[in-house]
Amino acid sequence: MSVREYREFHRRSIEDREGFWAEQARLVDWKRPWESVLDFSRPPFARWFPGGQTNLCHNAVDRHLEERGDQRALIYVSTETGEERTYTYRQLYAEVNAFAAVLRGLGVERGDRVVIYMPMMPEAIFAMLGCVRIGAIHSVVFGGFAADNLARRVDDARPKVLITADAGMRGGNVIRYKPLVDRALDVASRPPERVVICDRGIDREMRPVSGRDLDYADLRSEHEGEEVPVEWVDSTHPSYILYTSGTTGTPKGVQRDTGGHAVALTASMRHIFATNPGETMFTASDIGWVVGHSYIVYGPLMYGLTSIVYEGLPIRPDPGIWWKIVQDYGVSTMFTSPTAIRALRKQDPQYMRRYDTSSLRNLFLAGEPLDEPTSRWASASLGVTVRDNYWQTETGWPILSSMLPGLEDEPVVPGSAGFPCYGYDVCLMHEQTGEEVGPGERGILAIRAPLPPGCMSTVWGDDRRFVETYFSDFPDRNLYSTFDWGVRREDGRYFIMGRSDDVINVAGHRLGTREIEEAMSDHPEVAEAAAVGVADEYKGQVVYAFVVPKDSRRLETEAGREELDRSVREIVAQKVGPIARPAAVYFVEALPKTRSGKLLRRGIQALAESRDPGDLSTLEDPAALEAVRSAAQNPE
Ligand code: ATP
Ligand code: MG
Repeated sequence: MSVREYREFHRRSIEDREGFWAEQARLVDWKRPWESVLDFSRPPFARWFPGGQTNLCHNAVDRHLEERGDQRALIYVSTETGEERTYTYRQLYAEVNAFAAVLRGLGVERGDRVVIYMPMMPEAIFAMLGCVRIGAIHSVVFGGFAADNLARRVDDARPKVLITADAGMRGGNVIRYKPLVDRALDVASRPPERVVICDRGIDREMRPVSGRDLDYADLRSEHEGEEVPVEWVDSTHPSYILYTSGTTGTPKGVQRDTGGHAVALTASMRHIFATNPGETMFTASDIGWVVGHSYIVYGPLMYGLTSIVYEGLPIRPDPGIWWKIVQDYGVSTMFTSPTAIRALRKQDPQYMRRYDTSSLRNLFLAGEPLDEPTSRWASASLGVTVRDNYWQTETGWPILSSMLPGLEDEPVVPGSAGFPCYGYDVCLMHEQTGEEVGPGERGILAIRAPLPPGCMSTVWGDDRRFVETYFSDFPDRNLYSTFDWGVRREDGRYFIMGRSDDVINVAGHRLGTREIEEAMSDHPEVAEAAAVGVADEYKGQVVYAFVVPKDSRRLETEAGREELDRSVREIVAQKVGPIARPAAVYFVEALPKTRSGKLLRRGIQALAESRDPGDLSTLEDPAALEAVRSAAQNPE
């Protein structure tokens, strides 16, 4: 196998779109076969497998009962509560039926929405699958989001029922969920009539609201042993709503279909994640994000894998915990974010070597640019291939990947997210001229419509926003914009250069934030760094750098600070060019990130320009933003 063979595979997926996807669609069970593979009569909206009927829960659970009923479907490990529980496919079937029966008992029907606001616990997954079993549409809201955030999502989805827990835990601290739900439903204009609480017994002071709140254990026992028949839905029936991370502004409610989603995820388990049914996958993410939806829940279960559900931090009880899980459960495929690996890289390297991780074949990382030092460090310490892949909440599965059929033995090029995945007709567009750019030139990464199966069908409740947000950037209205910068090398490999809104324009030179940040992260004393463009009277913009030093003691003396400041500027000038040399370097203890671990560059930039930082609803740690504010306002 080779790059050439993959090219052929990809070419077929574009030139014989219908033939290609009809073949992939055989990986899933259909109640009724589709009438056509694709209906693209109303561009840019694509309807995949119209006329067909299927069900996600059937594909994730029921269809495996015969062959793998006693195989573990889920392994739940919580380093927060100390629990470890496993569920075979047969047990999962029972749990999902129980949840579906409870929902049905509350009057939830096909097409109704259910908001799930829960910590990482198996019941959250039972709830998701229980919804799709009866044709209800789930909207999972990342647990621990503030009440306002939850209220906004409730108002957008207008759910019949909201499912929550008494509390979650993070780093040993209790996060009480129910008071947040109470507050959210107070301010929501269309609150659901019923709230179902999975009481974990963590928050003993929890008080149910009478007439509204119901205890899941009670409801469950009322429906003990009930089996709920699968509700067969049209392929185009919405399966779920999920919001983007809110890194660049107000989150968008992504709506996903059923049939295309099932086909795309199942196919990706084989072709991109290179897994086999029966193996164990560990996706260290949260069900509140798309990575969790696709690769903790739907992908692994539909393809008959065992999926690890981990509640806890990567460094507690110690930074070896993930590798212990890999060893104990024979994990073959792992998926997480570069941010998590960077957090581990700051720890003592002995933890990486303490466990036998020889079962692990591939470590997939996505969500943010993967810097070369982190990539090399992870592959050297674990002895696995680290595989960058690039995608968005909108697409639901990778757009670019360094693992694809034929590329198994191709050397991975650190810094590159790989090649366009089959099904994606990717191009790079010049921002101003709207023309395609050639190899080596930077352009906005766009996808020619129709988007492949599995990608968003529209913005929930707002077709116009879908078209205006994603399809209005170029004169050719058939191009979906990712809003990310990319470069393609002669050999066909792509490099993501950062977000197009983040490009820094210094005296007419357009600099990608990623190049500058990567140069800084090559500095031996830098743990993490952010580059932002700040308005400048003469140059248009100048680069400001915000740097987290590996060892803050370095900053205690004036000389130490000056030396670090100087060498950071120097390394950027050297690696990117003198034009990129930061005009200012600020040292901070942490960088502001979204809850999904993405750098909130627009927030940093706004503060550096003394502007209002805008929508911060998905910010992880307000203290980090405050530190940036005070650093930027009190330059030394
Ligand atoms: P919003 O759209 O609300 O501003 P967001 O774009 O951060 O938030 P997500 O859908 O979670 O929401 O993230 C997708 C984005 O993450 C991509 O558009 C890209 O900017 C970045 N990204 C994802 N994977 C990679 C990767 N492998 N390399 C570089 N960037 C990546
Ligand atoms: Mg986005």
